[in-house]
Order: sequence, then C-alpha cells, then structure tokens
Amino acid sequence: MKNLANLNNLELQKFFSSFDYVLSDVDGVLWNFLDTIPGTQETIKSLKKIGKKVIIVSNNTSKSINFYHHELTRAGFDVDKDEIVTPTLAIISYLKKQDLKDKEVFVLGMTPLKGSLEKAGFKLAQNEPDRIEESHSAFGAHTIPDDEKVGAVVADVDINLNYVNLQKAATYLERPEVLFVKGAADCHLPVGWNKSLIGPGYFTNILEDKTNRKGVPMAKPSPFLHEYIVEKYQIGDPSRVLFVGDSIPSDMGFAAESKYQKLLVFSGATGKNVLKEWDFPHEYKPDYYADSLKSLNDCILRTFACKL
Ligand SMILES: [Mg+2]
Repeated sequence: MKNLANLNNLELQKFFSSFDYVLSDVDGVLWNFLDTIPGTQETIKSLKKIGKKVIIVSNNTSKSINFYHHELTRAGFDVDKDEIVTPTLAIISYLKKQDLKDKEVFVLGMTPLKGSLEKAGFKLAQNEPDRIEESHSAFGAHTIPDDEKVGAVVADVDINLNYVNLQKAATYLERPEVLFVKGAADCHLPVGWNKSLIGPGYFTNILEDKTNRKGVPMAKPSPFLHEYIVEKYQIGDPSRVLFVGDSIPSDMGFAAESKYQKLLVFSGATGKNVLKEWDFPHEYKPDYYADSLKSLNDCILRTFACKL
C-alpha cells in the first residue's frame, strides 16, 4: 500500500504507464450526496488528456444512466453516457443472454430500473398495490398464487418495498427455473459520516434464506459486472485497469476479484485508520491510497506538466 502523494517522479512514470483504463466509483469518489468533491472534475479531464479511458461505475440502480449523465455533466464532469455503468446494464445484458422467451420479469426495484428493463424489451410482471386489506385471506390471495408467466425475479434497492411484494417474489422463486438476479448487496447504505440506512442486502438475504437460493449478483464486487465491463469496453488485460473507490468491500473487493490495480480514496465511506486496523481480506488491500481523486490530478500535473 503506497501513498500516491509520496511516489517519486520515476515511480509516478511507472505508475502512469501501468494502466490504460480508469474505472471510478461515484459516491464518495466524485461526489458525496451530489456535493462534488473538490478537484475531481479536473482529474477526470486530466486523465483523458493523458490518454486514459475513463469509465464511471456505480452500484446504484435507483438512478438512470440519463440521470447520472445529466447530473455529472451539470457538476462539471467531462463524461459521455457511454462511459457510465451501473448494475442495470449488467442485469439487462445477463437477462438477454438467458432463454427467457416471452416470460415476464418481476422487479423489486425502483422506477429507473424498471423503466430501463422495459426499454430493453422486457415485459414486467405486475407488482402488488402499496396497501392491501389487512386480512389473512387478502394476504394469501395476493401472495400465494404463482404466475407461470414470470420467468425472472430482479431484486435491488426499492424504497417502496413492502411485505406483500417480497413474499410474492419468494413465491415465484419456489420454481427453480425462475431466474434470480440481485443488485447491490449492501446491508448498510451510508448517508454521511457514521450514519447509514437499511440497505437492499437485508431484503435479498430474506429472499435467499426463505427460498434457499442464491441470487446472481450484478453489482460490485460481482464477477458478472466485471464480465459486462470487459466485454463492453473490450478490455483485454484487467491488470491494465486502475480502479478508484472509497469502499473496501465493494470497490477494493471488486478490483481484487477482477484483478485490477486498486486505488483507495479517503473522501467517502472509509477513513485512514483502516490502513492500521485492516479487518478485510488481505487481497483487498489497495495498491495505492490517496486523500481524494484530486491527489491523482496532482500526480498527473507533476508527471505530465508540459503535455497538459
Ligand atoms: Mg462509493
């Protein structure tokens, strides 16, 4: 683990010639709750100027690619729509490769995820209403009947999730041929320093526990997301990728499993004390660490001053 700021000129030259792609997380790396982290826009610009291909990788399916593109552009980031990846795209790509025929997809997720699936040509199964009559017979009528038209269940963050739809998903998943795909596995969603909300992981855990099945993961650190990225961007050698993230389990874990180089930044979910009190798998240790993505720009300026 090397502090990026302490690399000498020779080490920096070697570092910059060791990767062609920079994959960057969003929350905690580019911004925190839409407050841009200072200097990060310039870093993206500089990376492109020195010839690096930049790809933004978020685990959040509650926002559409169009929304991300709009917000990133508004915040001053030089990013094309085609350079943004979320599990939504990996889910669509995965489902398209399966033999779903004309089967429907039941989604525990938010409007942008549902809209993207529909736009990609999938027919969505009907979710139950927000409220049903509070009786056993009504509950049974809404949740027990199977629907043979459903061929896949997709589960991710859904702030309007309710018990009825969760049970309905479990009912469908009792048929082994129904595909089970899941998004982010986080049980805790950080919403500021030392604060977090209940994440989607708790609910997919319920489904997995109840049905004795494992959802196919499509969010970091999933190998399916890695597969999607290398296929889409034609990445031949994963070691030529530098992954920048603020989360150890999802970002450093993803980079480790995918055999990317790892840069951990301390502008989001992780504090510097983690380096002294390492409590994660050894292979998740970052190759490099920095205060924020801005430190990477400082290194670019030092190394490529005359070319920028
Ligand atoms: Mg993050």
